[in-house]
Amino acid sequence: MPPNLLILGGTLEASALAGAVAEKGMTATLSYAGRVERLKEQPIPRRVGGFGGVCGLAQYLRDHKITHVVDATHPFAAQMSENAVVACRQTATRLLALTRPPWCKKAGDDWQNVRDIAAAVTALSGPAKRVMLAIGRMHLAQFSPCPQHQYLLRLVDAPDVPPPLPHHRIIISRGPFTVAGDAALLQNHDIELVVAKNSGGSGAQAKILAARQLGLPVLMIDRPVLSPRDEVGSVDAVLDWLAHDGTERGV
Ligand code: NAP
Repeated sequence: MPPNLLILGGTLEASALAGAVAEKGMTATLSYAGRVERLKEQPIPRRVGGFGGVCGLAQYLRDHKITHVVDATHPFAAQMSENAVVACRQTATRLLALTRPPWCKKAGDDWQNVRDIAAAVTALSGPAKRVMLAIGRMHLAQFSPCPQHQYLLRLVDAPDVPPPLPHHRIIISRGPFTVAGDAALLQNHDIELVVAKNSGGSGAQAKILAARQLGLPVLMIDRPVLSPRDEVGSVDAVLDWLAHDGTERGV
């Protein structure tokens, strides 16, 4: 039976996979959480919004006769990834994660690693600084216990409600970002510290490389630890898995 694929998306990798399966004429749907206002056009059907937890996802897999799920969500989308592990197990649906390696500290980097956003908030408890808070818009309120800083926020969409940070400036941009552009941004705003999630990949890396270039410290939020699942690192490897039904290569 040819695969009927569900791609859990929201990343560049998910879009690349959507393009690749469309070229091969496979049946596939790309699922978005619906976090951004303008979704990219895609060559395969899209669905938008949560499934309703594990039960909702399991029901969706059954209702739509999904045979394979590829989790190509953001590395910090831990809830969705966990739900996928459980729902796929419950419904005997094949699951593979398409992931990217985290960024690694290199010579010239001045990183302080913290395990999660709460730890980042604790680490920011000191004197006022000019901080680029590059964590997206969903968790800004968690930084309200640190109102002393001047925050530079770069967001894909304007927040629905102003973040509860008394001193902030918002830049709306979805990139692509360049190292030169981000170095200029950091300098123009006299940024003293960059706070970032260790997303990995190239899309969000410019600010990290710019910080290295300028010798600026980075408070790096480590990735959440996820349940074990099969993972690959490229679209070609996913296609291979789909072609072999994930069994012959022991993925
Ligand atoms: P999450 O916390 O893992 O997911 C929360 C809920 O959103 C899920 O339980 C699910 O709802 C729904 N959901 C998430 N991804 C979905 C998908 N692809 N299709 C359908 N429903 C989906 O993930 P998140 O809320 O999206 O984000 C968590 C973290 O990841 C945040 O820190 C965020 O900034 C980051 N993130 C970054 C990017 C990026 O491109 N930079 C993209 C996404 C997320 P139900 O339980 O109702 O099914």
